[in-house]
Amino acid sequence: MKYLVCEKPYKLLTRNKPIPEPRKGESLLKIKLAGICGTDIHAYEGTQPFFDYPRILGHELAAEYVSGSKAGMTAGDLVTVIPYFHCGNCIACRHGRTNCCANIQVFGVHIDGGFSEYIIVKDEYIVAGKGLSLEELVVVEPLAIAAHAIRRAQVSDQDTVLIMGVGPIGAGLIHFAKVAEAKKIIVMDTNKNRLQYAKDTLQVDDIINPTKEDVMVSLNTMTNGDMPTVVLDATGNHKVLEGAFSYMAHGGRYVLVGIQKSHLSFSHPEFHKREATLMSSRNATLQDFNFVIDCLQKGKINLQKYITHYLPFSAIESDFESLRNANTDVLKAVIDFAK
Ligand SMILES: [Zn+2]
Ligand SMILES: [Zn+2]
Repeated sequence: MKYLVCEKPYKLLTRNKPIPEPRKGESLLKIKLAGICGTDIHAYEGTQPFFDYPRILGHELAAEYVSGSKAGMTAGDLVTVIPYFHCGNCIACRHGRTNCCANIQVFGVHIDGGFSEYIIVKDEYIVAGKGLSLEELVVVEPLAIAAHAIRRAQVSDQDTVLIMGVGPIGAGLIHFAKVAEAKKIIVMDTNKNRLQYAKDTLQVDDIINPTKEDVMVSLNTMTNGDMPTVVLDATGNHKVLEGAFSYMAHGGRYVLVGIQKSHLSFSHPEFHKREATLMSSRNATLQDFNFVIDCLQKGKINLQKYITHYLPFSAIESDFESLRNANTDVLKAVIDFAK
């Protein structure tokens, strides 16, 4: 079988090895589609901290079940994979918060992942596709990250939500803020194509381009002076992250979904007077995966224009490079293993 390995930064190679055999408690999956994530690009560029090479990347997977011991599965069933392998013993795991396990090993990040024709995974990380298509299953993981963040924020029909950044995660945040029936959704991005996508395809209530307008003035107008009760960051941009502390309503929540490397600083009195809540949101749990699959089954998510590029596996070594050129049309690119 063929697999794609990142030998070192800027060096991706297709190699061959025998198809592995599953042991007890494991199953063999045939990868059909694999999403390319910011994490994969950063690993390729060598900007992912604590990253070891060589590494097989890939953690957003739509696959076909081949063989193994997963109960209720037969060959040919379509599945996805929860790529956050947890220890089961740490304080977070003991409290059911497997997404932030103290010893987490993310498939395709800390250990070899899914850019491979076949993979072996422990049965507990295989999630049944329940009739979803491969195109839907391959985006369950990024959507689950968004669903988890909206659940963390406890968004309800009382909330005006500000979402910063309309990448694949930001788009997911919009979807699940809608599922949570947020009163109003405002989106901020510097990229006009992405703002247009948010407005036209995802039908958010308002858009803000901070390079063209004063964000505080626009938010004031859009919320009748109340300001957003929930702010979610999906940019991981230091300046954006610090600026947003003043966008929150009194009594508001601020959820950090994106991540960056440095310290954040903010005015304590400004934060305090709002009795604000600050939280991070990391990965997702089985509950989030099942929720996403349920929403997709019920047609609650409009995946139109979410996957923008399909790259054939046979040409991936060269095509991968093209994704890095700030191509503003790329929202989610997916590797097609059948081509
Ligand atoms: Zn990802
Ligand atoms: Zn753990």
